Amino acid sequence: MMQPSGQTRALIDGFGRRIDYVRLSITDRCDLRCRYCMSEKMTFLPRSDLLTIEELAQLADVLVARGVRRIRLTGGEPLVRRGVLDLVELIGDHLGRGLDEVTMTTNATQLAGMADRLFAAGMRRLNVSLDSRDAERFRTITRRGDLNQVLGGIAAAKEAAFAIKINMVALKGLNEDEIPDMVAWCGEQGFGLTLIETMPLGEVDEDRTDRYLPLDAVKRALEERFTLVPTVHRTGGPARYVEVQETRTRLGFITPLSNNFCAGCNRIRITATGTIYGCLGHDQKIELRDLFRSGGLAAVDAALDRVVAGKPERHNFDIQRAEPAVERHMNVTGG
Ligand code: SAM
Repeated sequence: MMQPSGQTRALIDGFGRRIDYVRLSITDRCDLRCRYCMSEKMTFLPRSDLLTIEELAQLADVLVARGVRRIRLTGGEPLVRRGVLDLVELIGDHLGRGLDEVTMTTNATQLAGMADRLFAAGMRRLNVSLDSRDAERFRTITRRGDLNQVLGGIAAAKEAAFAIKINMVALKGLNEDEIPDMVAWCGEQGFGLTLIETMPLGEVDEDRTDRYLPLDAVKRALEERFTLVPTVHRTGGPARYVEVQETRTRLGFITPLSNNFCAGCNRIRITATGTIYGCLGHDQKIELRDLFRSGGLAAVDAALDRVVAGKPERHNFDIQRAEPAVERHMNVTGG
């Protein structure tokens, strides 16, 4: 992994983009069933198909050795995976030694009991998904969620001193009228907020085009209540940010459908079964698990080179197409 000179052999794709960020899904299971994400009767993978906690930790070792500076754990719901805290501790050992941060995207249902240990392991930032602050609506969108449990998780994370960013998928006719109040609430709490357009990933029970809400119109409406100041903040991802002047908090817009920001992409995604995807919106992939089990860390290293060399230039999402852009659901690849 290291060259004889001691230099890191960076992961650079065919378009010159350096891959230093990995989204690592550690389970496809989730305790919620958000309507835009999965179908009500979702079937999950057998547990034996997943990489073990030890394998996930070894994979992280290789990623850091190849110049990955940020790892975000996701799922499914990462906090329902048994052993997740051990994994965060193992990955956390790399902090300050190649790794800049380990973060997580979570629905916060399990956060109240885990926030302190995550923080102690070196995690400092959390993205929490929250599509509504109305209990009944929250239950409708998630098909089962308890808003109070989630708000309790968020409060515990705030208490533990995490920097929190709320992710809200903007859904026509479901939560669009709540967006201005969500901006205000996040401002009061000192949380960032990112609004997300629904993406065509996997079949769900309803037609996503009915729920698709282009964020440029949302932004124009928000400008009637808030002063949105453009910022140059970038994460290498698809979000573009403004600062809400009244609250001094950051507001992001993820608009993969109405805009395309792939030129600066710095990431790859790895599923809980060890499939590496170069792009959320493509099927280009390498199945790592069996290579790993038969060929060890050298095989992982070679697989990373192959997937990065073939990373597509851009996604091919199109909300108007009848078929999803890719068959897999967001809970498989991770958000
Ligand atoms: N369970 C965790 C959570 O809720 O944050 C992590 C996984 S979840 C798949 C990650 C993010 O993807 C969530 O913010 C969710 O709202 C978003 N998401 C899921 N399906 C989506 C879709 N089809 N379009 C846009 N966002 C989606």
